[in-house]
Amino acid sequence: MKKQRFESMLEKLSTCSDKVDIEFYLQTNGMLLDEEWIALFSRYKVRVGISLDGNKEINDRHRIDKKQIGTYERSISGLRLVQAAISEGKLPESGILCVINPEVDGGSTYRHFVDDLGVKNLDFLLPDESHDTFNTANSGKYANFLVSVFREWVADNNPNISIRFLEYHLHLLTRNKADRRIQRDYDASKYIVTISSDATIAHDDIFRSMNPKMFTNLLHVSESSISELYLSSDGKQIDAAHKTLPDDCTGCIWSDVCRGGYHLIHRYKEGSLYNNRSVYCHDIDIILGTMVNTMSKAGVLRKELLEEFSGVINDKIVLT
Ligand code: SF4
Repeated sequence: MKKQRFESMLEKLSTCSDKVDIEFYLQTNGMLLDEEWIALFSRYKVRVGISLDGNKEINDRHRIDKKQIGTYERSISGLRLVQAAISEGKLPESGILCVINPEVDGGSTYRHFVDDLGVKNLDFLLPDESHDTFNTANSGKYANFLVSVFREWVADNNPNISIRFLEYHLHLLTRNKADRRIQRDYDASKYIVTISSDATIAHDDIFRSMNPKMFTNLLHVSESSISELYLSSDGKQIDAAHKTLPDDCTGCIWSDVCRGGYHLIHRYKEGSLYNNRSVYCHDIDIILGTMVNTMSKAGVLRKELLEEFSGVINDKIVLT
């Protein structure tokens, strides 16, 4: 999208700010950013996240342009512009988003982002895999990545470094059951809608690769409302799945924290739809177990939580 059109979109959306809370977030590889973009983002307080897979060698394995040239250097140029604008107070805080590569070491990826690039806000995402696409040979490798990140983060002991994935789970793991349920109900009440630049309204774009049929016969903003999407059969199915624990997860010690997986796509399987545990179940079990054991050893888990998680507390998976 060209700058002028982007600005006109932000301007129009901003006119609704007296009716709804609006925050602008933009996720980009950063390659095309320049001072004009930064000035535009600054005017509308857009949070700009940069997508990066790791260091140059790792990033350029998959992130290449049409000429097959790696994008790392150009992404870093964009990142530097954003960092400069943040430090001058022109842009709100933002950071790097990294999709976890199961073949890569999480600890050295974290060290690169923090030590080499000076980034303080990070997030690591589990890839958008469903039971129909997940490679089971990779089960456990995502936990290795995250445990390695967690180890470095704990060792740094720097409150200025934020890792959204880990902080979200630490927050839940240190709450009592009632508070976790409040958070769960709040998360389940969110409903994500995609409005594309051609003015069509659709479900969360994350479902596109999982079930392309959900993205046919799209609604249009000129003649439909978002509630029509919400009340469609797919919409009702998604909403119900958000609010329901998969049968497989009944009795799981992490059910209040993981709730069957963080994204519905991780539960999806053709036929049984969302009534399955996450494809990352094994990885989630390891990373949550590691967090609980580390907090237990550090003496920061309250008595009732020590009792609740006593079945997974042991000496074998504590970070030292
Ligand atoms: S996906 Fe696995 S870890 Fe998560 S609640 Fe279900 S059984 Fe537990």
